[in-house]
Amino acid sequence: MDEESFRHWSHRAADWGADYRETLRERPVRAQTAPGEIAAAIPAAPPEAGEPLEAIFADFERTILPGMTHWQHPRFFAYFPANAAPVSVIAEYLVTAMGAQCMLWQTSPAATELETRVLDWLRQALGLPDGFAGVIQDSASSATLSAVLVMRERALGWKGNSEGLARQQQLRVYASREVHTSIDRAIWVSGIGEENLVRIPSGGALRAMDIAALEAAIENDKAAGHLPAGIIACVGGTSAGATDEIAAVCAVAKRHGLYVHVDAAWAGSAMICPEFRHFWEGVKAADSIVLNPHKWLGAQFDCSAHFVRDPESLVKTLAIQPEYLKTHGRDGIINYSEWTVPLGRRFRALKLWFLIRAHGLDGLRGMIRNHVEWAGALARRIAEEPDFEIVTEPMLSLFTFRRLPPEGEDADAHNLDLVRAINDRGAIYLTQTRIDGKVAIRFQAGAFSATEDDVAAAFEAIRAGVKELQTA
Ligand SMILES: *Cc1c(COP(=O)(O)O)cnc(C)c1O
Repeated sequence: MDEESFRHWSHRAADWGADYRETLRERPVRAQTAPGEIAAAIPAAPPEAGEPLEAIFADFERTILPGMTHWQHPRFFAYFPANAAPVSVIAEYLVTAMGAQCMLWQTSPAATELETRVLDWLRQALGLPDGFAGVIQDSASSATLSAVLVMRERALGWKGNSEGLARQQQLRVYASREVHTSIDRAIWVSGIGEENLVRIPSGGALRAMDIAALEAAIENDKAAGHLPAGIIACVGGTSAGATDEIAAVCAVAKRHGLYVHVDAAWAGSAMICPEFRHFWEGVKAADSIVLNPHKWLGAQFDCSAHFVRDPESLVKTLAIQPEYLKTHGRDGIINYSEWTVPLGRRFRALKLWFLIRAHGLDGLRGMIRNHVEWAGALARRIAEEPDFEIVTEPMLSLFTFRRLPPEGEDADAHNLDLVRAINDRGAIYLTQTRIDGKVAIRFQAGAFSATEDDVAAAFEAIRAGVKELQTA
């Protein structure tokens, strides 16, 4: 591609992106294609000769676009958001155009130094004390894996990496059943093993870990000759927003010398609003915290913020420093690839910088407060319906509900049918979960572009789904 065509097609792509964003409301939120439909439209073998970009672009619009689920749709209420605020898209374009690999300070000093600065902005915005240092990871899953590796190495006196786990004492890590599956995977990948992830019962309105049971489990394990390594707490669990009592968890950890990792992947962004910080009260005593600005805050995926109180232990666990990667004689510089499992790094700080500057913390707080308020109003509206019940009350902007099935019908099957009917219509997109073993419909408001009307419109869309089931 010559320079002129690069310019031309970059403009075309930017125009396309703007048109796309402008017309999102007219599109069904979830892709309406059947499995295999898109693959069938793509040749099985690659082309030998180059093709004109005109043709490739046309196929993108014709073949690929119908198979996209529109995550930036203002009526996306499924999972958690993966917001890409327009300003972060622009920053990503610049990052892509430069294509820098920012593994070391010297491979792009600006990327490293901006990352340090912007994560410190974020730390202040979240109300975390200045002892915390941050790094951007690709995902919360990676941050959690890093934290679990630190737990392991710290407990083993830094011998796991060199000796393996075979001859070590049996490690134990504690969490409730409400934590995300990325915790299980971190436990598998770190070699600790699922059997050593001790599940602490949880309950109450916030489905929090039972602190006495946590303490007892640690005592039992010690008595049995096991080696407790750490606790993983969640703030805003994926299913229904389960939230552990962080202060109490940290107090137990401190008594037993354990490392605490807090997974606030979704809810963490809301902590820029002081009125929500009670949800993670005591978090300053945690060792490691992850939250995803690529979820609610609006920094295009991927951008996961990992804060640690003691970066030394993270670097001690993950830094390799082979000769060819050493940047000799430059004391005081940070090589963020020593803080993460992957070596290569994209320049992710730029979009966070653009985002925070363009919207200001006040703008971002306003968005989050609106979502919380609008989701609360929708939950109250649904609660008034005689054929619906709220299953879990709103935690920030997330709640679950279910429809009481017609006489003689199975409640789980009925609610799964209802979710399908709603999503097939395309006006909104939401997903289901299981609460205490039973199907519930899950709703979260978090789309960057959502308005009060969009959230309110979910009520009509749910009612329309019910109607469709009744006439089917
Ligand atoms: C989304 C989510 C994760 C996983 O985040 P990734 O960045 O996709 O790895 C982990 N924990 C919680 C609570 C989440 O909501």
